[in-house]
Amino acid sequence: MAKRPHVVIVGAGFGGLAAVRALRGVDVDVTIVDRNNYHLFQPLLYQVASGLLDPSAISSPVRTIVRRSRNVDVLRAEVTGVDLTQRRVITSAETLDYDYLVIASGSVTDYFGNEDARQRSTGLKDLSEALALRSRLLTCFETASLTADADARKRLLTFAVVGAGPTGVEYSGAVAELIKHVLPKDYRRIDFTEVSVVLIEAGSRILATFAPRLSRLAARSLQRKGVRIILGQSVSGVDDAGLVLANGERIETNTVVWTAGVRATTPLAFPLESLARSERVKVTSQLHLIDHPEVFVIGDASALDQDGAVLPMLAPVAIQGGNYVGRLIAGRLKGEEIPPFHYHDKGTMATVGRGAAVAQIGPIHINGLIGWFIWIFVHLLYLVGFRNRALALWSWAWNYFFWDRPVRLIIAPSSDRAL
Ligand SMILES: Cc1cc2nc3c(=O)[nH]c(=O)nc-3n(C[C@H](O)[C@H](O)[C@H](O)COP(=O)(O)OP(=O)(O)OC[C@H]3O[C@@H](n4cnc5c(N)ncnc54)[C@H](O)[C@@H]3O)c2cc1C
Repeated sequence: MAKRPHVVIVGAGFGGLAAVRALRGVDVDVTIVDRNNYHLFQPLLYQVASGLLDPSAISSPVRTIVRRSRNVDVLRAEVTGVDLTQRRVITSAETLDYDYLVIASGSVTDYFGNEDARQRSTGLKDLSEALALRSRLLTCFETASLTADADARKRLLTFAVVGAGPTGVEYSGAVAELIKHVLPKDYRRIDFTEVSVVLIEAGSRILATFAPRLSRLAARSLQRKGVRIILGQSVSGVDDAGLVLANGERIETNTVVWTAGVRATTPLAFPLESLARSERVKVTSQLHLIDHPEVFVIGDASALDQDGAVLPMLAPVAIQGGNYVGRLIAGRLKGEEIPPFHYHDKGTMATVGRGAAVAQIGPIHINGLIGWFIWIFVHLLYLVGFRNRALALWSWAWNYFFWDRPVRLIIAPSSDRAL
């Protein structure tokens, strides 16, 4: 019997899993490789980091997800390189030959070359960072409740978030609510007027990709929760006792959360100058490398120009890309022509806390409670598996009715740096 074409997919994120789904039942053998044994729903990481959701509500084992796809094998390994000439993927476990390669390896936190920031702040890009942040935040309160020195206490109780895109806005809103409504019941020794959350943005407004009106509404909502917003200032330095802004202002803090940007990561050894902005790999309108029609790059890792702008690093872009590539491979095997990829923008949204969100769906701009209900609906739709949806919905309802964040557990080592 002739050997079936082998499709190797690097990354079990949104893009990789969409490609697996599209290849279900197709006459190919698929191997999906990821360094983690789970798929992570990154948009809700901030809720793990702020004690609202349990990690298992936003992650699912890859083997469980693909269980019903009989043509799929799972390999938990680090992909360290790709030999485009020999058509081989090199991993920490074994080397895989491929006929088609789908790279869906996503992105990592970008510190823009600021080594101090990289070493002394925490990103919010994976589960271990979210757990570390949750533990750090709570450890700060534990330590502050035993600290007599006013300056040291202030440092412990100041939380700085760098970057006011959706992640920074959602996380600072969630932390502000935790501080306002939940932690005062736990830490009676702490004077909560000493606690502050500072959101720092280099641009002129928060949520810069949203319409200015929605940015303003979100900013007002955050300020009502007690978040101090600093606009037009980049961070010039981070040290053990805080950070310094470009205008020289110093913010004394033990906790810096870095949500200022991401850059693509792939196992392809391309020189930096051949890559697009944020180190994304340039692809054709069929999402493959220009010289290699058998190698596809999708999601955050790739840069595709559509209607004069590069597609954003968002989950729906990765999902639609994975879907397309799966269909394209199936089509090629049957000798069918598949038209170029076209991304359908269904809108973007961000929460600003309990009962408040902004959503931009084409020309329609929504905010407040209605925006929040739409946000809940969309996130439930995209979460993988019934159990995760039920867990998330239950936790949101619990928080809504009881003003509670039940997962206030210090588990991960808060940091190797003493608080
Ligand atoms: C905190 C946060 C909030 C976000 N909020 C939203 C939102 O509200 N809406 C939205 O649309 N988007 C949001 N995003 C962006 C969205 O999560 C990404 O655009 C999306 O995950 C990209 O999908 P992907 O498949 O390209 O990569 P990912 O989903 O990141 O998956 C990449 C996978 O590849 C694996 N991998 C990477 N390199 C290797 C390697 N060398 N070896 C083995 N495995 C590897 C990783 O472990 C990972 O599982 C958010 C992102 C973050 C971090």
